[in-house]
Amino acid sequence: LTAAHLHKQLRDQIPAMLADIERLVRIDSGTADRAGVARVIEAVGARLTDHGFALSGPASGGLQATLRCGEGPRLLLLGHADTVWPAGTAAQWPPRQAHGMLSGPGVGDMKGCLVMAIHAIAAAAADPDATHGIGEIELLLVADEEQGSVASRGWIEQRARRAGACFGLEAGWPGGGIVVARGAVGSLRVVARGVSAHCAGHEGEGASAVATLAPLVNRLESLSDRPSGAIVTVGTFHGGVARQVVPDHAELQLDLRAPDEATADRMLEAIATVVAQANDGAVQVELHGGITRPPFPREASAALHDLANDCARELGLEIQPIASRGGSDASFAAALGIPTLDGLGPICHDSCARGERIEIASLADRGALMACMIARLAQQWRVGDAQARAWGNVDAPA
Ligand SMILES: [Zn+2]
Repeated sequence: LTAAHLHKQLRDQIPAMLADIERLVRIDSGTADRAGVARVIEAVGARLTDHGFALSGPASGGLQATLRCGEGPRLLLLGHADTVWPAGTAAQWPPRQAHGMLSGPGVGDMKGCLVMAIHAIAAAAADPDATHGIGEIELLLVADEEQGSVASRGWIEQRARRAGACFGLEAGWPGGGIVVARGAVGSLRVVARGVSAHCAGHEGEGASAVATLAPLVNRLESLSDRPSGAIVTVGTFHGGVARQVVPDHAELQLDLRAPDEATADRMLEAIATVVAQANDGAVQVELHGGITRPPFPREASAALHDLANDCARELGLEIQPIASRGGSDASFAAALGIPTLDGLGPICHDSCARGERIEIASLADRGALMACMIARLAQQWRVGDAQARAWGNVDAPA
């Protein structure tokens, strides 16, 4: 099974991949749209069954698909069925091919990635010699990734601990980017409770939660240190019930980005200090939440990055290592020390924006890259290759 052979095979499958992707893109599956997410899981599950996967779950609303290969460690692939797009989007924005691109809601994040991965695995697994050395290829499809995978986290971590290596199926970056590191992401809420009163009738009796929180917007955001990658953003601010009522409730939502754990801890402490200082007795201010995505350290991707470079060279493809500020489910595996690489999907432009589109040719290029990586990994994991087995979570329990 040569790299060139895999590349040609994936190229021949582009029309079939496009048909599958378009079918998935026509199904709305915003995280809150549980019925839509379930339909996507069902459609992807059917394709996985066609390719010999056994389905189990759903766990936490997601799907676990397993392809038995032989003896050896398990390769885990992390995907998600949800998108950021609410119900109704698919009708307004049907999939469209133009200038070598396919656009549509969730085409890059990550319906195109799921379809590409299924074809890539099938191409590698078509030759049993190519996957000899891998015990199982397991694909997880979670239902709540776009909202931080709060319900799925435990499940993902449990499966990751039992994996020899992990591929994140998020899209590739323009220019051939693959994700070799990710920063930490925090989701926090600041809640203020004051005393409600009519603004004139009971003058002086109220305590405004809005007035207490408002100055915090600037104070919190100015904790950001953009050159170092530490960013605090107040994304929402709600408060009050009516114009003439002193507001007894206000709340803001805070997004935190930090390049590493030490910075994340330092930022959390600084945020907690600012919030504590706002407590003035009359208005109680509380901080909720924390880091929802741990940092994905670069060391976690080193071995798989080497493997990807070797395959890219064989295929004549350009790949670029990217350290992303965003989190993904792969961050959970990487933080556990499982060898992990992310951003392996087709190349996506303007992800999670109305211009979201993937490069059609990259379905074959990146698909071949993934198939080649699977074959290389199998080679390295083959029993007896003691030196190669020195890396990877190869003694993980089943
Ligand atoms: Zn995604």
